[in-house]
Amino acid sequence: MEFKDLKLKDLVQGIKEKQFTSESLVKYCIEQAEKYEHLNAIIEIFDDVLLKAKEIDKKVERGEKLGKLAGIPVAIKDNILYKGKRAGCASKFMQDFVSPYNATLVKKLLDEDAIIFARTNMDEFAMGGSCENSCYGVCKNAIDSDCVAGGSSGGSAVCVSAGICPVAIGTDTGGSIRQPSSFNGVVGIKPTYGTVSRYGIVAFASSTDQASPITKTVEDNKYMLEIIAGKDSLDATSIESDFGASKIKDKYVIGICKQLKEGIEKLEQYSKFKEAIDILEKAGHKIVEVDIEHIKNSLACYYIISPAEATSNLARFDGVKYTTRSKDAKTLEELYIKSRSEGFGKEVQRRIILGNYVLSSGYFDAYYKKAKRVQELLKKEFERAFEKCDVIITPTTAGEAFEIGGKISDPVSMYLEDLFTVPASLAGIPAISVPYSLGKKDLPLGLQFMSAEKTEAVLYDLADKFLKLTKGGK
Ligand code: GLN
Repeated sequence: MEFKDLKLKDLVQGIKEKQFTSESLVKYCIEQAEKYEHLNAIIEIFDDVLLKAKEIDKKVERGEKLGKLAGIPVAIKDNILYKGKRAGCASKFMQDFVSPYNATLVKKLLDEDAIIFARTNMDEFAMGGSCENSCYGVCKNAIDSDCVAGGSSGGSAVCVSAGICPVAIGTDTGGSIRQPSSFNGVVGIKPTYGTVSRYGIVAFASSTDQASPITKTVEDNKYMLEIIAGKDSLDATSIESDFGASKIKDKYVIGICKQLKEGIEKLEQYSKFKEAIDILEKAGHKIVEVDIEHIKNSLACYYIISPAEATSNLARFDGVKYTTRSKDAKTLEELYIKSRSEGFGKEVQRRIILGNYVLSSGYFDAYYKKAKRVQELLKKEFERAFEKCDVIITPTTAGEAFEIGGKISDPVSMYLEDLFTVPASLAGIPAISVPYSLGKKDLPLGLQFMSAEKTEAVLYDLADKFLKLTKGGK
């Protein structure tokens, strides 16, 4: 059995019980990274990983107390700060940025003796759904390298799927963990908003952004989330949660959203989705229809609210602070304009323009305020729906991974990638994507389960039950 076939808990136990060393595991991950270098999932393997692994091995030798992730390599997305290391958000603008402190989640990982292994490729500033908007070049799908990895956390999903690293951390604002997880056949969750501290994470839409784990199994995912979650005095939006453990049941009531039904029926994967529902029903879960009237407006709202926040969050990149400065600016205004024009890629510039437009006087009420109102209605509708059911089910994406270059010149078709993932983001509720079937090109398809806030335990439980019934969609 190779390292990549082992569960996280077995890896930790193996190191603790001296069946193998952390150094051997890290060496293996480095070899895997070299083997899959062509996928471009990893931007940089940190230079001290072997040293850190040896330190953990020494701790084991000395019989010292060890953390829950003793000696385990964890890859992090390029927008997560790890003190003394580069974090570039896959942007030319931040290529030379060195993190001055640790993100809270990194600190939590280190406290549990994890080894922060590498930084992973992403869409610039987490804007995108393909991992093609990166200053480091396109990240390719782990199963079919002619296809996209998905985005924006494409590098993290590919890393896990290819077996480079047992776990990777991504961020999800509107689907950036769930969609690439779906495209690469791995498990990804976006927890309840606030579950994981955002301190030390470069978010573009702070009101929906969450960092969380991408793993091979549901069990590993839960194990990781429990480690990185928790209220943090450095992030006022963070929350304490027990993940709703008391809400775990033997059989669940599973809702299908009436307003999405017709659209889902038209998808190529519909027969497979129907099969999944039948499997769940046969296993004793009850299927009901629920109404979420405003779900159909989610995408439009998201592409108003998130660019508005991006505009405001990225205003600090002015060519003076942080990073890249245009070399041929003669005045202060030119410095701003030239630095931002040279530093930001096309998609980021598009969002800044869009965001400024919806926030400008005259359009603020018509677009931004209206979108925020619809978001409130959506939240309430979800709450009502969860009075009738425990979980709502949808495909994670409309289809399997598409070809590289297939959507990059058509931003609207790229935005449509987020159709099923954005509602949970706007409502702040948890949602998980698990592999459930294969599409026409034999590439993975993901199934999404959403539940009421602070009930991740329910998602993990049902996802696990489902995967056991279907052998992981294989
Ligand atoms: N694809 C979405 C976007 O481009 C989601 C991004 C994300 O979740 N970070 O905005």
